[in-house]
Amino acid sequence: MNNRPASRPGQFGAYGGAYIPETLAPAIAALVEAYTAAQADAAFWDELNALHRSFTGRPTAMTYAARLSAELGGAQIYLKREDLAHTGAHKINNALGQGLLARRMGKTRIIAETGAGQHGVATAAVCAMLGIACVVYMGAIDIERQKPNVFRMRLLGAEVRSVTSGSQTLKDAVNDAMRDWVTNPDSYYLLGSALGPHPYPTMVRDFQSVIGREAREQILQATGRLPDVVVACVGGGSNAIGIFNAFIGDEQVDLRGVEAGGRGKALGEHAARFSGGQLGVFQGTRSYVLQNDDGQIALTHSISAGLDYAAVGPEHAMLHDEERAFYTSASDEEALAAFQKLSRLEGIIPALESAHAIAEVIKLAPTMRHDQIILANLSGRGDKDIFTVADVLGVTI
Ligand SMILES: *Cc1c(COP(=O)(O)O)cnc(C)c1O
Repeated sequence: MNNRPASRPGQFGAYGGAYIPETLAPAIAALVEAYTAAQADAAFWDELNALHRSFTGRPTAMTYAARLSAELGGAQIYLKREDLAHTGAHKINNALGQGLLARRMGKTRIIAETGAGQHGVATAAVCAMLGIACVVYMGAIDIERQKPNVFRMRLLGAEVRSVTSGSQTLKDAVNDAMRDWVTNPDSYYLLGSALGPHPYPTMVRDFQSVIGREAREQILQATGRLPDVVVACVGGGSNAIGIFNAFIGDEQVDLRGVEAGGRGKALGEHAARFSGGQLGVFQGTRSYVLQNDDGQIALTHSISAGLDYAAVGPEHAMLHDEERAFYTSASDEEALAAFQKLSRLEGIIPALESAHAIAEVIKLAPTMRHDQIILANLSGRGDKDIFTVADVLGVTI
């Protein structure tokens, strides 16, 4: 667990907090209390860990990318394989942790938001397994773009509600999920990234930090030392904080987050909050936000739906300002090239989100020595993205 001092619970330096409507305050207070108790209860973590082994498929593998390392001719590249976790991405780590918390709180109904549908599928799977009713809010445009995941959620017994307000994408789905929670404070809101009001950024980090704990042990076992660089893509920031967390105390380890550079530098063409964003409060938390000069939230673009969000998790904002982690971006085109390269050289089709991390590896590895090590988090598998990629490549499937 991360032992860095927070100035106040839920504060990450100048970032974080809980900017919520008064009507949600009792529900948030109950959540803080329940999570604080669960955090200190060994039986809670024992059950979570047992389910990670039997249901999630943890520990996930670590793979030495021999052909990619040889082709790039620099550092040795290792991949943490969250693509092998149940439902195909790291999202299940958080969905399962919060699902157990919801059950512990006696909740019989779970609400979630989803963008590409990965968090929705993970939540629906956990709810089915625990026998809890599940309602997933999803933008009407995303429902149209991600039909296979919509059908998966329905097969898993979830109700998928189409969101037709605003841009009809992820941020609007979060708004509707929060609105549902205000009306139904007895439901549990299962937020999908290290975002939103306290306690979500802390709780989601804690549930995702299993990635870094395993990876640290695996890389030490495989190489006898720590990696020189750890790379992860950053949407809301949950897979990145999950792997970074185990290395934050090792100052010699360079932490790199990769945002979506999209198709250009103009506002609306990307989701690179650290290069184009400003300080702001959005959906319950204070962080770097893409907005116009009047504070209106900007539209964002990325080839990968999972990175396509206007705000970044508050802990990343702090790590950025402290220069403990560095944030860069990869364009749609670079991510697409990385997607194809990893598929052909390693036999692994990465999620387009994860391909942003691989794009950074492709830039970085040749500048490093043969005896240096890059650890990249492969946050998910790319099966969900084959239609998008075929479309961009002009292929009919
Ligand atoms: C959702 C998702 C992401 C982005 O979310 P984070 O919270 O930044 O991790 C990245 N990769 C995959 C595969 C995803 O499904």
